[in-house]
Amino acid sequence: MYDYPLYRPPSESNSIIIQATIGCSHNKCSFCNMYKSKKFTIRSVKDIKNDMNYFRKTYESVEKIFLADGDALIIQVEELKEILTYIKNLFPECSRVTLYGSPKSILLKTPQELSDLKALGLSMIYMGVESGDDEVLNEINKGANSKELIKAAKKVKDSNILLSVTIIAGIGGKENSKSHAIRTGEIINSMSPDYLGVLTLMVEEGTILYNKILNKEFELLNDKEILNEIKLLIEHIHVNEPVIFRCNHASNYISLRGSLPIDKEKLLKQINYYQYTNKFKKEEERRL
Ligand code: SF4
Repeated sequence: MYDYPLYRPPSESNSIIIQATIGCSHNKCSFCNMYKSKKFTIRSVKDIKNDMNYFRKTYESVEKIFLADGDALIIQVEELKEILTYIKNLFPECSRVTLYGSPKSILLKTPQELSDLKALGLSMIYMGVESGDDEVLNEINKGANSKELIKAAKKVKDSNILLSVTIIAGIGGKENSKSHAIRTGEIINSMSPDYLGVLTLMVEEGTILYNKILNKEFELLNDKEILNEIKLLIEHIHVNEPVIFRCNHASNYISLRGSLPIDKEKLLKQINYYQYTNKFKKEEERRL
C-alpha cells in the first residue's frame, strides 16, 4: 500500500498512516534526504479514500490518523475538506488527525480555511522550524525566513489547531552555534507552540550538508557542544503559555522532557548533571 520510505513524527507511533501526498513539496533542505528518492505528488482523493476503506476493514478502532508524507497541508483546501469529512464519517471514533505542514503551505491557506479544517477534525500541524536564525535558515535552504515561520505559526495558533514544532541542535555548525541557540529561543517565544521537539543533527550521506562537511565548509558540534547549545536555547526561552518540551528523540545525546516555563530550571539542572557526570549517549548509540 505504501510508497516507501515512510516517515511519521515519533508521537504518531500508534497512528494509522495514510499517504495523502508522496514526498515533500519543498525537498531542498540541505540536511535532509528523507524524500530525495520521491517525486512530489498529491494522491487522488479516490486513492486516499480506498486506503481508508482498507483500514476500516482491518481495524475495529482507529483512534489517531496521520496524513503523510512530507507536506500534506499543501493539498487544495476543498480536497482536504473532503478527506477530513470522509475520516469523520468512516472513523467516528478517531479523536485526532494530524499532518506535516510546511510554512509555505500554511501561509497559502486563509485563516478561514484553517478554521474550516479545524472544524472538520484537523487537530495538529507539525512544522519543521529547524532554527530561528535567518543565516542558518538560508544556509540550510529552509525555504522560509524567521518572519515567515512566525507568521505561519501565528496562523495555526489563531485557528486553534495545535502547533508542534521541531528544531535541530547543531544545525548551525560551530560557526553559528551561539546565534542559532539564541535566535531559536527567541523564535519559540514569538511562536508559543503547543509542543517543541529538539532533535540533534545527524548527517546523512548524499545530502548537501554531507558534502559541505567533506569540503570543510561546515564543522559539526561534538556531544558537549550540543549540550551547551541546548542549554543556551532553553535559557533563552521565555514563554507565558505552556509549551510541552521534548528532547528525547533517538538522535539526542540526552533525554529531556518537561513543560516550559515551569520546568525550565529543572531541565537546565538535568543538563548540568549530564555534563558533570558525562552520562550521555555515545555517538554510536544515537541511531539505536
Ligand atoms: S521540508 Fe522537511 S521533509 Fe522537506 S526537505 Fe525540508 S526537512 Fe526534508
